[in-house]
Amino acid sequence: MSNSAEKPTLFDLTGRTALVTGASRGIGRATAIALASRGAHVAINYQSNESAARDTLSAIEQLGGTGELLPFDVSQSDAVTRAVDDLASRKGLHIAVANAGVTRDGLLLRMKDDDLETVLAVNLKGPAYLSRAAVRVMMRQRFGRLIFMSSIVGEMGNAGQAAYAAAKSGLLGLARSIAREYGARNVTANVVSPGFIETEMTSGLPEEVKKKYLEATPVGRLGRPDEIAAAVVYLASNEASFVTGTVLRVNGGLYL
Ligand code: NAP
Repeated sequence: MSNSAEKPTLFDLTGRTALVTGASRGIGRATAIALASRGAHVAINYQSNESAARDTLSAIEQLGGTGELLPFDVSQSDAVTRAVDDLASRKGLHIAVANAGVTRDGLLLRMKDDDLETVLAVNLKGPAYLSRAAVRVMMRQRFGRLIFMSSIVGEMGNAGQAAYAAAKSGLLGLARSIAREYGARNVTANVVSPGFIETEMTSGLPEEVKKKYLEATPVGRLGRPDEIAAAVVYLASNEASFVTGTVLRVNGGLYL
């Protein structure tokens, strides 16, 4: 890590390579930009929205950072493994952020098998595929930072989001098990649990639902993607070397 006068001392990620899934938009985009702004080379994963992913890359380059596009579907085991191996062979892999996520809201009694399978595949199996592939690389190099994007909904449950909540809770078990299995290899695994953040995922919610969240949030406003990104930067940094298996809540006090 560099100690030169122009570089920040804390949270310097120079020389690290990060992979952020779902980095074309929202929280993932903010996270990719924040990691790159601390010096990491960032692989920007997305599923289909190439032009949005290119916008993320442009934002990184405007800051003087470096990155690349790495499209794949996180729910496809082979595709995840191929992409991770390809990136690691060219650039190494030090930080993996399992951020890509989808919702299919509806009451349990009306839940379709397809929706259940999609939600579990993207939000839970995807992070398991990603971390399995990444850990293989990280344990060999005796350094790794795995960060899972859970949700307040995974901690509290939410009417209309049973499958999503189950997947997001599952990430806590995944991270804690990885923390136990690979801690001795200097691979940490942590969870970020955002509250209500203004992104495309939440933009379609009815105004009365947003108002309800706002009223229940002690800081008196909804969150921004860059506030989640800052938590990821911390967990990815050298400064978080003794932090593993934890859940970092970034929710404005909505769940205490
Ligand atoms: P978003 O704006 O809807 O963006 C979703 C991202 O995931 C996009 O980049 C999308 O890629 C990607 N993606 C979706 N399915 C994918 C797949 N199968 N393979 C690869 N990439 C895929 O979401 P967000 O609000 O930023 O949420 C990011 C994460 O934070 C999610 O895990 C979400 O559950 C979690 N979270 C969000 C909130 C919130 O209030 N927004 C709160 C708690 C937790 P394309 O652009 O190619 O479609």
